[in-house]
Amino acid sequence: VKYKGRNGVFFYDDELRRRSQDRIHLEGELVKALERDEMTLFYQPKIDANSSTVSGFEALIRWIHPERGMVSPIDFIPVAEDSGLIVPMGKWVIRTACRQHVAWLKAGLPPVNISVNLSCHQFADHHLLASIEQILAETGVDPAYLEFEITESVLMKDAEAALQVLSEMKAMGLKLSVDDFGTGYSSMSYLKHFPIDVLKIDRSFVLDITTDEQDATITSAIISLAGALGLAVVAEGVETREQLDFLRQCNCDQVQGYLFSPPVPADRAVHLITKQF
Ligand code: C2E
Ligand code: CA
Ligand code: CA
Ligand code: CA
Repeated sequence: VKYKGRNGVFFYDDELRRRSQDRIHLEGELVKALERDEMTLFYQPKIDANSSTVSGFEALIRWIHPERGMVSPIDFIPVAEDSGLIVPMGKWVIRTACRQHVAWLKAGLPPVNISVNLSCHQFADHHLLASIEQILAETGVDPAYLEFEITESVLMKDAEAALQVLSEMKAMGLKLSVDDFGTGYSSMSYLKHFPIDVLKIDRSFVLDITTDEQDATITSAIISLAGALGLAVVAEGVETREQLDFLRQCNCDQVQGYLFSPPVPADRAVHLITKQF
């Protein structure tokens, strides 16, 4: 492949070859990673904007590779999606999150809401509901404490099929949240039809709320919209006190971001459960 750039001719052959080999290599290692117990879950708290206490945790997968070190899900989730590996991996995530919920309960802590991300293939998988049911039965988790975060673009890919799956999940007593809200298709009519509980405002809006008037307007409008529709609203990627103040002014229900805590291992998350932020 040759690409004629503005400043001459660049050869992308080597770069492309290296990248695709890297990807194939990654895929092979990813298959073994689950068996080898290299995956772990980190937990990032969501904070109630009024009480400043933890209202729940988002489970985020981490791959501790023996040589590469920590591999970001941004790099391996797409590979897992393409290879179909995301299905068994996703099931592992749900099971691990449920087991953690139970472990904390058994340790005498109050029941903790846990949310789990679902990617495109997982959501389209016909065995998803059966897998969730099986995990709930085997762990004894009350579905009211388990939430699934699904991005707007995944939901809109096939809105009719999504409505069907969401309705069944809702009937199981699970909570449902629209992740990265505002970045996908901007058709809002589906909000009326989908049985969702929570909107998560994408980090890209929150990033500039204190400097960009448009992002501030969009964010405050999403919060009002959520309120009017009876949905809870979470702002993700809150990093500064100023962003928090603005979100509080807009009556945002929950906030999540580095200002409070990055995603942390379970043994550190446990100390946050009863913390006053
Ligand atoms: P996401 O669901 O939108 O998760 C939010 C990401 O933002 C996380 O990155 C989190 O660590 C990061 N984050 C949280 N607070 C802040 C902040 O204040 N500032 C900044 N700059 N970033 C913040 P992470 O853990 O690397 O995950 C990236 C994405 O990978 C997630 O985006 C999600 O789409 C996917 N992912 C992660 N874990 C899983 C999983 O278990 N299953 C699936 N299907 N996808 C996952
Ligand atoms: Ca998420
Ligand atoms: Ca998100
Ligand atoms: Ca995101």
